[in-house]
Amino acid sequence: MSQAGDTPAPSPTRAGGDDLGRHLVVISGPSGAGKTTICRAVAERLGLPVSTSATTRPRRRGETDGQDYYFLTEEEFRDRIDRGRFVEWAEVFGHLYGTPVEEVERAGEVGGLLLLEIDVQGGMQIKRKFPAALALLVLAPGPDALRERLGGRGTETENEVRRRLREADEEVCKARRAGCYDAEIVNDRLEEAVRLVIEWIETRRSHT
Ligand code: ADP
Ligand code: 5GP
Repeated sequence: MSQAGDTPAPSPTRAGGDDLGRHLVVISGPSGAGKTTICRAVAERLGLPVSTSATTRPRRRGETDGQDYYFLTEEEFRDRIDRGRFVEWAEVFGHLYGTPVEEVERAGEVGGLLLLEIDVQGGMQIKRKFPAALALLVLAPGPDALRERLGGRGTETENEVRRRLREADEEVCKARRAGCYDAEIVNDRLEEAVRLVIEWIETRRSHT
C-alpha cells in the first residue's frame, strides 16, 4: 500500500487555507478505475487545468517532463519534501508522488478550479488541509472490470497489475474509513461517470 508523508504544511495558502480549498477538485481511486480518463474528459469539457504532479517513477514512453509529471530523482524529491514544497505527497507502488505547492497556489491566484488526480492518501491529506476541497472517489464497477482495465491498459507488467489489484480494496476501505470523500463515482459507463463528476463540480461552483 502507499505510504503517505505528512510534512508540516508549507505555506500553500497565500490565498488563505479554505479559500484555496474551494478551488480544488480531488479525483482519487484505485489504479485502473478510470481516474485519468475521467479527469481528461472533464478537463476538456469544462476547460479546467489539471495539476501536474512530481514523481520519482521512471518516465514511460510518450510521457513529457513538465507535462505528464515533473520527473525527479529521489534526492530531488526528498529535498523538496524537506523544504515543504509539496501540499501533499505519498509513496505509491514503490515511487514517490506529490503535488507541488506552486500548482495549487496558481489555482488560488487565477481563481478557477484545479483538478488533482492523486491517490487516496494524497486526497486525504488535501482534505485535512483544505476541508472545502471537493473530493471524489472513482471506483470500477467490480474486481473483474478493474482487472480487465489494468490488463488492457498495457502500462504495467503482470506483477504490477497483481499488486495494484491486491491493493485496490485496501485503498477503498481506507478512503471510506477516513470519511473524507464527498462522493463515490462508479465508473461503469464512462459517459455517465463523466456526467456525474461534472454535476458535482457544477454544484460546487454554484456554492463558491
Ligand atoms: P486510472 O487513472 O484510474 O489508473 P485509467 O483512466 O488509466 O485509470 O483507465 C484504465 C483503463 O481503463 C484505460 O485503458 C481506460 O481506457 C479504460 N477505461 C476507463 N474508463 C472505462 C470505462 N468506463 N469502461 C471501460 N474502460 C474504461
Ligand atoms: P501512475 O504512475 O500510474 O501515473 O500513477 C500511480 C498513482 O499515483 C495513481 O494512483 C495516481 O493517482 C497517483 N498520483 C499521481 N500523482 C500524484 C500526486 O501528486 N500525489 C499522490 N498522492 N498521488 C499521485
